[in-house]
Amino acid sequence: MQVAVVTGPGAVELREEPRPAAGPDDVLVSVGACGLCTMERRLYDGTKPVYPVAPGHEAAGRVIEVGEAVASLAGTPQLGDLVTMDLLTRCGTCHMCRRGRSALCKRPQGGTLSDGTISMGAGLAEVVSVAAAQTYRVGEIPVEQAAMGEPLACVVHSVRLSGFRAGDRVAVIGAGYMGRLHLALCRAWGASRVGLVDIDEQRRTEATGAGADWVAGPDDLVRWQGRHDAVFVTAGTPGAVELALDLCDDAGAVVLYGAFPKDVMASVGADRIHHHELSIIGVFSQEPEDWRTAAGLLESGALAADLDRLVTARYRLDEVADALTLAASQPVYRVMVG
Ligand SMILES: [Zn+2]
Ligand SMILES: [Zn+2]
Repeated sequence: MQVAVVTGPGAVELREEPRPAAGPDDVLVSVGACGLCTMERRLYDGTKPVYPVAPGHEAAGRVIEVGEAVASLAGTPQLGDLVTMDLLTRCGTCHMCRRGRSALCKRPQGGTLSDGTISMGAGLAEVVSVAAAQTYRVGEIPVEQAAMGEPLACVVHSVRLSGFRAGDRVAVIGAGYMGRLHLALCRAWGASRVGLVDIDEQRRTEATGAGADWVAGPDDLVRWQGRHDAVFVTAGTPGAVELALDLCDDAGAVVLYGAFPKDVMASVGADRIHHHELSIIGVFSQEPEDWRTAAGLLESGALAADLDRLVTARYRLDEVADALTLAASQPVYRVMVG
């Protein structure tokens, strides 16, 4: 079977790899679509120079083989089921996994292909073997939507940890793919209003078309200050934390979702946090319970129209170079391969 390997900046090749075997607790999945995330883009544009590497962690497809220990087990995806796949390593035995924070599992993530090439998901492939416990049935939906299971689970995690409740007033900083998923989810879950902040006018216009109650540039926020219960920062830029705090009402939560440059510091008065019961919450990746929720949302169709809007382009696996070039060279929501 074929798997895409990034061998250097701007260089990707399809390698022939023995078809993986399903262990007793695993399923084999024929990949139908795999989304290109920030990690794939950074590997391809050279900002994360780890080579050679088999990326692709936002994958979905149909089960083509079921391990003997999980065959016919209630709740386990079976032959022919469409599934979204959690390709993270969750060892279950480190301190974080035992605390229920397996997103922060201490076991090194990833694995290797047969020739020792580093695998970071290896979902840009024809077939993937994965623990059955880390696959989630999504019913019969377009496979591109199913491939949004991983980012949607991350956003479910983000909104869950914010303490969000129906009726809350929400602002999202950054109207890219992750900002738009926050918009879709908070609307579906009953936010009284959701506003998006972005520097790019085109993205603001598209967010309005997708149901944002208001949009604004970062310099145009005076009327929205102090009026939100939860503020999600999906664009980690200098000043974003301070901006988010200014948008919060008392008891507001700022959720730091997107990655920041390592040297970015934030400045906030300690007494302001105390007196106004503000929270600043870091979120990273997702937990199995977030996957379960995300898969249920996918199957329900509640977000179908929102997700369809976020597919920028679709390529076959043998066109993976074109897909990565597009994703690395211009603003996109999601480019799908498979
Ligand atoms: Zn991702
Ligand atoms: Zn662990």
